[in-house]
Amino acid sequence: MLKENLEAVKNNIAQACKKAGRNVDEVTLIAVSKTKPVEMLREVYDTGIRQFGENKVQEMCDKMEVLPDDIKWNMIGHLQTNKVKYIVGKTSLIHSVDSLHLAKEIQKQAVKKDVICDILVEVNIAHEETKFGTSKDEAIELVNEIAKLDHLRVKGLMTIAPFVTDPEDNREYFREIKQLSVDIADKNIDNVCMDILSMGMTGDYMVAIEEGATMVRVGTGIFGERNYNK
Ligand SMILES: *Cc1c(COP(=O)(O)O)cnc(C)c1O
Repeated sequence: MLKENLEAVKNNIAQACKKAGRNVDEVTLIAVSKTKPVEMLREVYDTGIRQFGENKVQEMCDKMEVLPDDIKWNMIGHLQTNKVKYIVGKTSLIHSVDSLHLAKEIQKQAVKKDVICDILVEVNIAHEETKFGTSKDEAIELVNEIAKLDHLRVKGLMTIAPFVTDPEDNREYFREIKQLSVDIADKNIDNVCMDILSMGMTGDYMVAIEEGATMVRVGTGIFGERNYNK
């Protein structure tokens, strides 16, 4: 089942790229494996996927211990400062940096471990109260401040669009955040690039790709529904 799901997702990605006149290499698929057992991750790994996304520190660290070293781990969930020390140096990319306070803690741990930590700034593009992320208006200021932290590298922006039944409803948000990333790139801030735009989930990744996503985070579409009651 996982293999078929993956084939379908990859086909959809290829289709969306074609529609948008983009090269399929420009889009990285992150398999969002939260709540799923390591056996399933291994199966997906065996098809060639190397990018995985998790939203809980403990779960991510547990999975890291038993799965191959060449996996690139993406922290996509809200990160508490007291947990930063467990993942700095082990993640490929932290998608969910939404405050200077958090960025400073990442800097502190990165200095300690003598590593450079790649991060994205999370933007709450639809101003949803239930979601984390800096506002669009504050994003540039936050990027400016984070840029001064020499053990962090800002690689782009991340957003979680609203939950909608029609993905077209999110197109405007994806467009807005793409524009924001272009505006920030135009400022040529030292230590900042806007190569990565992490947006699009199972319900809307095709629209996200059409609007410029370079990373899509797909969970349900690959692994099936999640059961949080277990
Ligand atoms: C769970 C999660 C996803 C994947 O969601 P699906 O709808 O299952 O594809 C993507 N991004 C973040 C930040 C998530 O927490």
